[in-house]
Formats: sequence, structure tokens, C-alpha cells
Amino acid sequence: MPATPPIPVVEAQRRIVERIEPLDAERVPITRAWGRVLAAAVSSELDLPPWDNSAMDGYAVRTGEVRSGSSLPVVLDLPAGARSGQSLPAGSVARIMTGAPLPIGADAVIPVEASTGPTGPGVFADPGEEVRFDVAPQSGANIRCRGEDVGRDTVVLERGVECGGPQIAMAASTGHASVDVFRRPEVAIVSTGDELVEVEAAGTEDRIVNGNAYGLAAKIEQAGCVARMLPIVPDDRSVTNSAIADALTSDAVVTIGGVSVGGRDYVRDALVASGVEIVFWRVALRPGGPFAFGTAGKRSVFALPGNPVSALVTFDLFVLPALRKMSGHTRCFPRRQRARLAEPVSTRSDKAYYLRCRLELDAASKEWRASITGPQGSGVLSSLVGADGMVIVPQGVDDLPAGAWVEFLPINDRVTWQEAVA
Ligand code: AMP
Ligand code: MG
Repeated sequence: MPATPPIPVVEAQRRIVERIEPLDAERVPITRAWGRVLAAAVSSELDLPPWDNSAMDGYAVRTGEVRSGSSLPVVLDLPAGARSGQSLPAGSVARIMTGAPLPIGADAVIPVEASTGPTGPGVFADPGEEVRFDVAPQSGANIRCRGEDVGRDTVVLERGVECGGPQIAMAASTGHASVDVFRRPEVAIVSTGDELVEVEAAGTEDRIVNGNAYGLAAKIEQAGCVARMLPIVPDDRSVTNSAIADALTSDAVVTIGGVSVGGRDYVRDALVASGVEIVFWRVALRPGGPFAFGTAGKRSVFALPGNPVSALVTFDLFVLPALRKMSGHTRCFPRRQRARLAEPVSTRSDKAYYLRCRLELDAASKEWRASITGPQGSGVLSSLVGADGMVIVPQGVDDLPAGAWVEFLPINDRVTWQEAVA
């Protein structure tokens, strides 16, 4: 395969997402919709609220009959859940609780706090007793009108909306026991390397644990997708070929290792043998340069370098936005923020450097300060563990002094999402 020059990070991100489409839709019960993205708009089947009702615990009155100091008999008792369509007789009031349907004839609610019952101010009178009011109400006061929140047949949730608590409450309240959402991508994970063993065999002589696969599976699940961890693949051409072919039954494939220029790096050849079109290989990036992306029909393949930090960082930069787009999200890229370097950094200008950093708000200046978490080698997992994200030292820049303004890319639960790639 001809070695093309490494491409810039943002170009790699663009080339990936432009080839990704959301998966097909499926219907899920509303109780399973959390975190899913709506594949179809939701319209209300009901008026919300469904009837004119009280916004307060108090008395439903005819405003024409009440002045400050008026006393009137209580003839109706309307708790929440009372039958709607009851009439309020002239010259009387109804005791009414929040949410209860307003009786026919009433046009305002006076809160109990603005009344005096037989046992004292602010205490409810019972039906048959008299209540005195301290205020003259305005017509419409403390009434929630039928349909004032949502009218029947109006769109309440657009396609592409992510279902969180408020969205699910809205769908349920407007009559939907289930919703159409984009299918969750299933993502196969293929670890390659003669040196790898699963965690149960940790400590085996001359072997290292397939740690990346567990970490990536967690990130795949965190992204709302389904991780399918396949058995470790030795550095063997034909085993790699058949493992890739098997993995391609999933919506997306993440391979780990074997994608560089090592004598026994078979992943790219295996992808081609399985009919994958390699869109690009190599990004001007550290950590994570020898990354490849390809497609086979609707399926996409992300070939991650094996070094732990390279694998996890390229997942965040390239795989996560793609999985979000497949899941139906329109905001697929992490929102960056500005921060000041707490210390000088020195990099090479031929590629972008993503440096693991912690972020702290400087109390005095109210500026975010980014400090390096430790050694930045591609295999140094310990400095990623304590990182809030990465400072981006762009391609073309080498040394930066302490105090320089930089862009900071949050990771994990610090991320908020935006549409634009950068
Ligand atoms: P490679 O990209 O295949 O050349 O792998 C580079 C290095 O990354 C290897 O020497 C391993 O130390 C490490 N490595 C590769 N695959 C994994 C994995 N699945 N989990 C943890 N470390 C790995
Ligand atoms: Mg390898």
C-alpha cells in the first residue's frame, strides 16, 4: 500500500463523519429511551394541561362576586383528580387543590394564604362553612388553561433530539408509551498482538494484558453503543483476515494495534482483503499517528494504534464523533475551551500534539489553567488516568511558554457536544 503523507487531525475528522450516516430506526418503550436519539418527531396526542385547572391550593371563585373582605360559602370540594365539568353555583366558592379541574363558572383561584377560614387565617374552610377573602382577584388569576403548555397535534420533540428526563417526560405526558429512536451501533473490538493476554492471565511471563480492549469497550458503552469484544488475534496474516471478516458483521469495527509499519502489522492488509476501502492512513498527530479509517458499505472500520494512550486518544478524536453520528446525534464533536498553560511545553512542529492535562480554575484571575499530568509517551497510561482532557499544540507550533493561551479538549464526562468539528 502506498504511504500517503499524514493528514491533519481536523481533515481526518471531516473525512470520517462525511462518510457516516445514522443507523436505521427502531421503536423502544419510553422506559428504555434514556440517552437515545429520536428518529422521528413526536407530536402531542393530548392538550397539556388537558383541562383548565388550578395553579394553587385555594378557592375557585367568580371574580365578580368577590371583593376584599367578602365572605362566601364553600359548596364544592375539588381535590386533584376531581371530576371535570362540575358547575360552581352562583354566590359560592369551591375549595380546589393544585391541578384540579376548574368548575364551570369560576374564573379565578384565590390562594388559601389570602383567605380566612373558621379556624383562622390561611386555614381551609370545609364545605358548608364560610370563607373570607383578603383580596379582590383578577379574572384568570392562578388558572392554568387547557392546552397552554402544549396543544394537541403540535410537534413537541423534533427528530434528532436526545432523550433525557425532560424529553421523556414530555413524550410520556403527551401520550407516547414508546418512541422511534436510532438503533444503537454495535461495535466490534479486535485486539491484535502476539504479546496480548486477557486480564484473567495477567502476570503471564512475556505477555501484557489486552487493557485497551477493556478501556475501549467502556468508552463504547459510555457513548451509548454496544461493545462486542472479540478474542485476541495473534500477529498472523490469515487469522487476522478471518477475524476482520467476522468483525465486519457489526456496524463498526475498532481494531487495536498492528496498523503501523512493523513487519508483522497485518491489519491494513486484512481490511483490504475483507473489501474495506481505506479512506486514509496516518494522521499528523501525537499520540496516535498511525491511525487508519476505512469503510465497507455502511460499515466503518477504525484501526487504532496499539499503544494505550494512542488507542484511547484516537478513539476520542475519530471514533466517538462517528459513533455519535451513527446513533443519530447532530452534535458529534467535543466543545473545546480556552486555557492558559501552567508551564512551558516543547513539541515538534511537524504534527499536532495532544498533551494530557488537568484543568483548574485559577481563583484570582478566573482563568482556566492547564497543567501537564506527567510523561507524555504513547504508552504512559498513568498520565491519562488523571487527565481532564488534552491541550492541543497545533501542527506548525513547537515551543509554547508558560501562560500561553491554548485550546483544551475535554474528555470523558467533561465533554459537552457541538456540531462543528473545530
Ligand atoms: P502495535 O500498534 O501493534 O505496534 O502495538 C504497540 C504497543 O502497544 C505494543 O507493543 C503493546 O505494548 C501495546 N499494545 C498493543 N495492543 C494492546 C492492547 N490491546 N492493550 C494494551 N496494550 C497494547
Ligand atoms: Mg502489534
